[in-house]
Amino acid sequence: MARNVIVVGTQWGDEGKGKVVDWLTDHAQGVVRFQGGHNAGHTLVIGGQKTALQLVPSGIMRPGTACYIGNGCVLSIPDLLREIDKLEAAGIEVVSRLKISESCPLILPYHVALDLARELKRGSAKIGTTGKGIGPAYEDKVARRAIRVADLLKPDVFAEKLKQNMDYHNFVLENYLGAEPVSYKKTLDDALAMVPRVKPLIADISSALNKAYAEGANLLFEGAQGSLLDVDHGTYPYVTSSNCVAGNAAAGSGIGPGMLHYILGITKVYTTRVGAGPFPSELDTTVGIGKHLSTVGMEFGTVTGRPRRCGWFDAALLRRSAQLNGLTGLCLTKLDVLDGLETIKICVGYKVDGKVIDIFPSNADDVVRCEPIYEEMPGWKENTIGTKRFEDLPQNAQNYIHRISELVGRPIAMVSTGPDREETLVLQHPFKEAGQ
Ligand code: IMP
Repeated sequence: MARNVIVVGTQWGDEGKGKVVDWLTDHAQGVVRFQGGHNAGHTLVIGGQKTALQLVPSGIMRPGTACYIGNGCVLSIPDLLREIDKLEAAGIEVVSRLKISESCPLILPYHVALDLARELKRGSAKIGTTGKGIGPAYEDKVARRAIRVADLLKPDVFAEKLKQNMDYHNFVLENYLGAEPVSYKKTLDDALAMVPRVKPLIADISSALNKAYAEGANLLFEGAQGSLLDVDHGTYPYVTSSNCVAGNAAAGSGIGPGMLHYILGITKVYTTRVGAGPFPSELDTTVGIGKHLSTVGMEFGTVTGRPRRCGWFDAALLRRSAQLNGLTGLCLTKLDVLDGLETIKICVGYKVDGKVIDIFPSNADDVVRCEPIYEEMPGWKENTIGTKRFEDLPQNAQNYIHRISELVGRPIAMVSTGPDREETLVLQHPFKEAGQ
């Protein structure tokens, strides 16, 4: 019987999902993206060689694996084609293995213009978006005016929908945001010029996934961003514009929730965040431990290059994520970044208005007032990079990992002990074991 696994980020993104998806793809015949767009940045290291992916599922790095972009994603066609070209130039076959949903809303140049102009207008209250047009494209989707991939196949329909959308958005750009309007003719010509390359990729992803599963394929669903960036459950409004939690793997790809068997939550052994918004266990990255996490962890955005904010591991935040996603198990990443620290702190709860709570609040206004409560554990001096067996980790690293599992209430399935595919330690295999 085929078995399907979801990989989700449990913090604010950048947990190292790409590497874990790539590793798990060895056991999957198909890999599916179900939300987000090219705001995601997945860095993979295979045999020392680095590859950064934004939209194409990380499964593309394993020859023969089918890759799917589900209806829950928003799609910038030129960015997708650029990514395909880059991969194919590196000798990776993409076109014959990649299918995109006919229902994906398109990201068009005016979405990018709106994203940038809005951030500018917000001034110091800006969200810190990736500037890729993600939010405006999702807005069009729920406003029921989005232009979708299937519309590209009917040039007249596409031109008419584009006209209506651009009349509206250019009005907003010029008259409300004080920005330059976007050229209708150029947008139309550029989009239609790309149709011949896109056409062979377009598919009914829901049917393709259900058929593959019925024929025995294991599927891997690759979440982008992280649970605390979820548009409903994250630190609203400092969030992305899609549902990043595991439940959206079904809606965002067109399968039933009963087809999801193991939910693997990826978490760094410390915490990072890019962009604005509350972050209770944040440290100053110009000095001390904050600087250590930032520099040793090389915490700079894959997509924007922005320095990431860094802080201690937050178990109360992970408890929120565990319940939002129904996590089966945890995969810890970047353990080696803590090598050499004298002591390590874990945030176990918060004081809010004099009261102690043990779970990350669901309302971002309450998160702002959270003062972290820390527990301190002894660190380890040894180098943990590349460790393959749990017993071979330093005793204090083992204790730290056990404590995380105990505080979050979920078993540890895997530990990533370095960026390379091979640097992975497995305690519970998501494709082989049922979990607890
Ligand atoms: P947007 O997704 O570009 O609208 O950005 C909204 C928020 O999500 C900003 O704080 C971004 O920094 C954050 N964000 C979006 N994608 C990622 C990601 O892949 N990793 C981490 N943060 C992200």
